[in-house]
This record gives sequence, structure tokens and C-alpha cells, in this order.
Amino acid sequence: MNKVEYVEPRKNYLSWDDTFMLMADLIAERSKDPSTITGAVVVDSENIILGLGYNGWPRGVGDEVFSWNREGGYEKENYLNTKYPYLAHAEMNAVLNANKSVRGAKVYCHLFPCNECAKVMIQAGIKELIYQEDKYNDVDIFIASRRLLEAAGIKLREYKPSKKLRIE
Ligand SMILES: [Zn+2]
Repeated sequence: MNKVEYVEPRKNYLSWDDTFMLMADLIAERSKDPSTITGAVVVDSENIILGLGYNGWPRGVGDEVFSWNREGGYEKENYLNTKYPYLAHAEMNAVLNANKSVRGAKVYCHLFPCNECAKVMIQAGIKELIYQEDKYNDVDIFIASRRLLEAAGIKLREYKPSKKLRIE
């Protein structure tokens, strides 16, 4: 009988964090927003994907009904002419698009989420959030979001890529 040679497993496979952030990058490419493209992935405790989302108009809203303008977004006189009041963010969409309950699940996303997405994630039962960037952390809605997520006991973790994967 021939001796069967043992074959080592491949070593440079992707970590789960890198895998889901790459998936967030991929689904973000569906976005039509000319200034910010973001993606989010919801996974359960066994790393099974439950939902994907990117930033866009709510379902059924035509592409050219609202402007993608972002200037003066939080000044009262301009607000209704910007994208901000109409846009559904990636994190909210990933949770709402999930094909089963997201109770106890994790969300991988690009930007630290806004307060509206934070509320949706908390109420849906998300327990952990892994984000790439927190660049608006001095803006009120993001300050409120962090307060909410911390108060609700959601685990927050900044993603540290083990490989340079994101194509800027
Ligand atoms: Zn949001």
C-alpha cells in the first residue's frame, strides 16, 4: 500500500473580517451616489451572510426624482434640496434586506453609522458593529449614534485590515 502524502492547508486565506469588508466594498459599487459610496454586510454568529446593503433611494423611488446634492445639507433652507432627507443608508438597507432575523448578528460597514441607522440596528437586535472609518465623529448625528450604540450595549470595533484589499 502506498503511503499517502499529507497536504498542508493553504495559509494565506482571507480572515472573516477581510472577507466581509471586501463584500461591503463590492456591494457599495451598486451605489449611484456621486460623492459617497458605502456598503454593509450583516452576518450571523456563524459567519453566514444574512443581508447586504448600499446607500440609495428607498425602493421604488426613481433614479432622477431627487438630487444627489450634498451642499449645505444640514442648513434648514437647503435641506430639502439635498440628498440627505431621502437617502436610505447601507447599514439600514442591509438589516432590512436580511432574509431572516438578524437578532444577535454583526454588521460590517464602511463608515461609522448615523443615528437613524443605529436605531434600526439596535431595534433589529444587532449586537456588534465593525466599521472601517469614523471620519464624521464631530458631527451631532454621529455623536448621538455612538451614544445610542454604547447605551444599548452594542460592541463597537474598528476594522484593522490584515491585507491591503480596498481599492480607493
Ligand atoms: Zn445611516
